[in-house]
Amino acid sequence: MSVKPIRLFGDPVLRTPAEPVRDFDAELRRLVKDLTDTMLDAPGVGLAAPQIGVGLRVFTYHVDDNEPGHLINPVLDLSPETDEDDEGCLSFPGLVYPVERAWGVVAKGFNSYGDPVTIEGTELLARCIQHETDHLDGVLFIDRMDPAQRKQAMKAIRAAEWWGDPVPQVKVSPHETFGKAL
Ligand code: ZN
Repeated sequence: MSVKPIRLFGDPVLRTPAEPVRDFDAELRRLVKDLTDTMLDAPGVGLAAPQIGVGLRVFTYHVDDNEPGHLINPVLDLSPETDEDDEGCLSFPGLVYPVERAWGVVAKGFNSYGDPVTIEGTELLARCIQHETDHLDGVLFIDRMDPAQRKQAMKAIRAAEWWGDPVPQVKVSPHETFGKAL
């Protein structure tokens, strides 16, 4: 079991686009294990590699009590139907806001052995896949909010106890995230 510190908003790694994985080796499988352990410990619904300071296109997910999964180098196909629901992020402890996302997604990528994988999901799984893939592009959920909602979120961030350190980090979220944290 290897739980890593989760990087918080304000850490530049969260705004840095991640590199595609090229080597499907033991080191990559260790990264998937670290991400899975850290996600389950938090606990979170999903976790992307930049959130533990690793700039590779890898994320893990754990939705609706199914087995935890992972996806590498994801490419998404989004449904035209959208869905607005509450969303949180492990890099923004304690904050949950409504965010509009595509209702369904087909995600193609690879597992840690380099085998092609397709994940189809709707609702929370689709939301999670979109949220985590955004992390790999340096995009955060505040970027997906409408302007009024973002303004309210930024106010709450500036008031948060974790905000303001040069590179704030927590090992475990001190806040209840209502099962919405990604
Ligand atoms: Zn997140």
